[in-house]
Amino acid sequence: MPAASFDAVMVGTGQAGPSLAARLAGAGWKVAIVEKHKFGGTCVNNGCTPTKAMVASAYAAHVARRAADYGVVLEGRPGIDMKRVKARKDEIVGNSSNGVEKWLESLKGVTVYRGHARFIDSAELQVGPDTLRADKIFLDVGGRPLVPSLPGLDTVPYLTNVSMMDLDFVPPHLVVIGGSYVGLEFAQMFRRFGSRVTVVEMGPRLVAREDEDVSLEIQAFLRAEGIELRLDAECISFQKEAEGLSVGLSCKAGVPREPGTHVLLAVGRVPNTDDLGLDVAGIKTDKRGYIEVDEALRTSNAQVWALGDCNGKGAFTHTAYNDYEIVADNLLSSAGRKHTDRLPVYALYTDPPLARVGMSEAEIRKSGLKVLVGKRPMSRVARAVEKGETRGFLKIQVEQGSQRILGAALLGTGADESVHSLIDAMYSGTPYTEFQRHVRIHPTVSELLPTVLESLSPL
Ligand SMILES: Cc1cc2nc3c(=O)[nH]c(=O)nc-3n(C[C@H](O)[C@H](O)[C@H](O)COP(=O)(O)OP(=O)(O)OC[C@H]3O[C@@H](n4cnc5c(N)ncnc54)[C@H](O)[C@@H]3O)c2cc1C
Repeated sequence: MPAASFDAVMVGTGQAGPSLAARLAGAGWKVAIVEKHKFGGTCVNNGCTPTKAMVASAYAAHVARRAADYGVVLEGRPGIDMKRVKARKDEIVGNSSNGVEKWLESLKGVTVYRGHARFIDSAELQVGPDTLRADKIFLDVGGRPLVPSLPGLDTVPYLTNVSMMDLDFVPPHLVVIGGSYVGLEFAQMFRRFGSRVTVVEMGPRLVAREDEDVSLEIQAFLRAEGIELRLDAECISFQKEAEGLSVGLSCKAGVPREPGTHVLLAVGRVPNTDDLGLDVAGIKTDKRGYIEVDEALRTSNAQVWALGDCNGKGAFTHTAYNDYEIVADNLLSSAGRKHTDRLPVYALYTDPPLARVGMSEAEIRKSGLKVLVGKRPMSRVARAVEKGETRGFLKIQVEQGSQRILGAALLGTGADESVHSLIDAMYSGTPYTEFQRHVRIHPTVSELLPTVLESLSPL
């Protein structure tokens, strides 16, 4: 069969491909988009959307248990119906995934292909029986959970963020391997659903990429909910037991083995780049398999761009979507946009959430900049007191001379929303002295951000 010719082919329907397909088709391009699995990719099917839907169920359970604190009387102890938790999550995910699929199919100028795309030439891809040829090819192939080679892992069943989506029961004892972003969201939600939960972390503290005060506060509120933490677990191994399994933890101190009924692996991700035939197309990857790109996200093959998680320049939905905007603006309006222009911004959806922008305290120390830091506990934020959610703190770093805002770690109720005023100030280059003058709404967490800056001290 002769190759079908397009102006552009997108591989993957995650967070960059569909919007790019729509925008280029809207500009009159003839476009094809290929998806081998579920439309919407990781975020929609087994990442952001389902986890935040489940975090919401877990939060409802948590508040229900604390009802008496608010003067609310419930008859008996609140229970969890995990089948309904899952059904609610499935409905939200299904609507979103079907929405992406139907939208793409409805777009004029876009042809949707289902199957695995692989390069057979520098400008040609094979998708099942079809050959697609394009002047420009855009890879948005995302990633999958890393399954490490740990002793005994092949002898026990294990869960990942993908198979967690199928659970319609509460595991009696969930052992979470990995004390970072993905692991902690699942750990707290399943504790709130009623599991006994142990988090096993190889490093000396949770979310080790964050500042120490952030890690310590997260550890404190997770422990307060009854989550067991096994840090410094240097010798992780697995063993099948008569009932369930056990996880070997430490070669040095503490109980050497932890029994459990279920194991969740949350130790990182790998890009879906090993089965794309990249070498045939002259596309280079780094040692970890991420596709090498320039500032405008073009690969070593000038006809091919890599967007989203597979380029290693971000690991979030908002960075993948920003990649689409960069590529589309550059192609359609010669905008000269670069991924290096964006600020690092992200959130960890524990309760309370952590929201981050810019440099951490540790990064600032290394930079040699002269820096002032302001910090305020959430127990001194009126809105947090009123909501009865006073864990965490607000921390902002500014540069002494230029008065630039350099970064912030907001760990507290509403932090994922209130951080955006700092993000906007940083993008617009607003000095912190100007930021302090803006009147904000009372009572909010955001209104306290200028107050944090009243008590600055040298780092
Ligand atoms: C548990 C979890 C929670 C998360 N929560 C958040 C969050 O709250 N906020 C946030 O910003 N980010 C979150 N993320 C990260 C976010 O999901 C990803 O950054 C985002 O999905 C990346 O989008 P993408 O377009 O790069 O790839 P993906 O969404 O992974 O999409 C890639 C698509 O390409 C398809 N594909 C791959 N190879 C081929 C091929 N050869 N042929 C055809 N199709 C192919 C795949 O099937 C997939 O549909 C979370 C991730 C996880 C795992």
